[in-house]
Amino acid sequence: MKCPVCGTDCVRSATEILATLPTIFLPCPECSLRVLDKRAPLLSREYAPPCSCGKRFIDEVFAHLYIIMVEEGDLLASDPLIAVGTPLVHPGFVMDRPPFLPANSLLLLSRCVTKKTAQRLVDEVPELKGVVKTGDFTPGIASPDLQSVPRVYELMAGCDVRADVFPLRTGPLVIYKQQSRIHIEFPRPGYPKIRSVEQHVGKPPVNYFIDACSGVGTLGLAAACLGVARVVMNDAWYASAFWSAFNLEVNRAYLEIDRVKIYEQLEDMEKHPVTRDPIKIAETTGAQSIEIYQGDFRLLHTVLSPDKSPLTALDLFNKSDLPATEKIRREWQKNVGGEVFIP
Ligand SMILES: [Zn+2]
Ligand SMILES: [Zn+2]
Repeated sequence: MKCPVCGTDCVRSATEILATLPTIFLPCPECSLRVLDKRAPLLSREYAPPCSCGKRFIDEVFAHLYIIMVEEGDLLASDPLIAVGTPLVHPGFVMDRPPFLPANSLLLLSRCVTKKTAQRLVDEVPELKGVVKTGDFTPGIASPDLQSVPRVYELMAGCDVRADVFPLRTGPLVIYKQQSRIHIEFPRPGYPKIRSVEQHVGKPPVNYFIDACSGVGTLGLAAACLGVARVVMNDAWYASAFWSAFNLEVNRAYLEIDRVKIYEQLEDMEKHPVTRDPIKIAETTGAQSIEIYQGDFRLLHTVLSPDKSPLTALDLFNKSDLPATEKIRREWQKNVGGEVFIP
């Protein structure tokens, strides 16, 4: 598969990713382990190269990144190791010990990195896949009224596409995203949202599932993998709708579909970053019908067939605002009907 961001083969199908999983972050017998204090500066100014197996312990990789960032002036020699930034491993899943990283398995999120340094980091640190500069905001749509212009993080060097793996009772689901465009959600132990979808979809599965605020498609695709015959996913943010469609293609081996028709590519969608009236981005042919829309979920009922009542997951931004959530739920029930749950 070709990566829509960097144009190389940095993305793989779910089947290929899963084949690497059991051992991907485990050391070989020769791998060395040096645990560093993340809250202290790196006094030694030394790092070990990757092992002959191609992997290196994450702290050692951080030492390498730190030394380059201090040399370039992006960090002070008195800064703690943790000031390098936040690591996101690729592929991401809940791990019970820190990883030994193979090549191209780490995305660095940094507040202070410059473009020149980011390029040097990607050129010299083999584990690094890309560098993203972050800020004090959430990338993508930040308020449910869709009025504000979404802000995004900046890709400084390399490629910021990475995957997370979610365990389902039918087998793991692989979900890709372009990290500078999508808000960061670390997989939580126990994967509560996935468990909630499994529980509501039931066994045998319901016939019709809507993921109204789909993000990159995790819950809608979980329902599809659980065997739901008809799934509709929707998100107002172009990057979410695009990656939902892309992830449909990535996980197609698990689905009863003949074809995935994608109507808009990433560069077309960038021209309408937020839409209200639903636009169909992708759909499948075959025994399972899966449709993806970009639009305001409050208008999604205008494109749905009124005859069937779905099970709807409403994964809203501010679930803690209970009166607002209740109002949305009532409105949805009036326009669409069926059962609604908040995962
Ligand atoms: Zn890429
Ligand atoms: Zn090794």
